[in-house]
Amino acid sequence: MLRARLWPIAAALSVTALACDAAPGDVLSTTTTVRPGTAAVASAIDPPTETPPDPDPDPVPDPDPDPDPDPDPDPEAPPEIPEDDEPPATPPDAPPDPTDAVNAGFIGGACATDSDCAYTGGVCLGASLGLPSGLCTLPCDRLCPDRAGAATTFCVAPGDLGVTADAGLCTMRCDFGASVTGCRAGYRCELLGRHGEPDTTQYACVPGEPDDALLSPCQEELLARGADFALAQNPMDHPDGHPELTCDVEDPVWLDPVIRGVTFRYASATATPKKLFASCPLALALDDLAAMLAEQGVTDVVDLGIYNCRFIAGSTKMSQHAFANAIDLAGFVRADGSVATVLHDFEAGVAFPVTEPGAFLAWVAGTLYEDRIFNIILTPNYNDAHRDHFHCDLTPGSHFLE
Ligand SMILES: [Zn+2]
Repeated sequence: MLRARLWPIAAALSVTALACDAAPGDVLSTTTTVRPGTAAVASAIDPPTETPPDPDPDPVPDPDPDPDPDPDPDPEAPPEIPEDDEPPATPPDAPPDPTDAVNAGFIGGACATDSDCAYTGGVCLGASLGLPSGLCTLPCDRLCPDRAGAATTFCVAPGDLGVTADAGLCTMRCDFGASVTGCRAGYRCELLGRHGEPDTTQYACVPGEPDDALLSPCQEELLARGADFALAQNPMDHPDGHPELTCDVEDPVWLDPVIRGVTFRYASATATPKKLFASCPLALALDDLAAMLAEQGVTDVVDLGIYNCRFIAGSTKMSQHAFANAIDLAGFVRADGSVATVLHDFEAGVAFPVTEPGAFLAWVAGTLYEDRIFNIILTPNYNDAHRDHFHCDLTPGSHFLE
């Protein structure tokens, strides 16, 4: 009874919650010299493209940037030589910190020389400038290139990195899939304004001690589960025509679209997976969902979106999508190639589905309800608006399946 077919494409959906990775490509053409305490940076031309994060963050004040610190050690000072009868502070053959492999060869990665920064215009801010294990960077006006598989990047004021320069400098955004602090050893995750555009903020890595209070309890739980995520900005948007209402997202995160081996794709089984913008509670629910589906051999989930700052259709009540607290599930692909779509395979109004994909879909909806992975699950049984997806949300205090 298994039928292979193309997945439905929801062309009319207005939901967008896409990652902000920029395609590697155009990079800056500059000549750059770095001298102790100073990164002199030529003006940037032909900046790389970067898709701005969506949702667009609202203005947040720049958290007290240090305009011109001078962390540079005195170059004339003699090196400290340990006493003969004391072990050296750092054994010469000490293994490198494993987080030094984060973004290796790319922006935010460790380096000793410019040649360690393997991209056009790559510059190494060395450890002598106060950047622990060195930091690969690139001068920037506003935008920095990204590289597939590496943490995304951000253009910060040079003072945020403890150097002076006449342009911004690229660093990596915090990535909690790569490191439990979100950053390499010797760096801290901090909410920073974009160079020249301080109202646009992102969590990015700068030299310093990690902040133990950075993550919410929910985000700590996500970290403890080994989830691959980055901290996101709360968009604090408003539904169209309703400036008095706010789409306040709880502890928002960008979640890697591959969760416990299950790949989430938007609107089509062939769509390129993009990072998922979600409230932290939804991220935990997606982790539970992925674990449940992985046990059943599911490899791919087709979803119809998470975040959308809007009312419930036909009402003036805020949708749980407005809080990135809901996901619409349209279909599932299993390792044997079998597919089950809500649109084609769900057997509405049937207590005991007769087809295999129909039975599987009924099992998914029932298990999400019984295991309380979601609080509300609406299927095609609920109304025609749900003929092609299961709406799954975390409405507080609810326990409802139809
Ligand atoms: Zn929905």
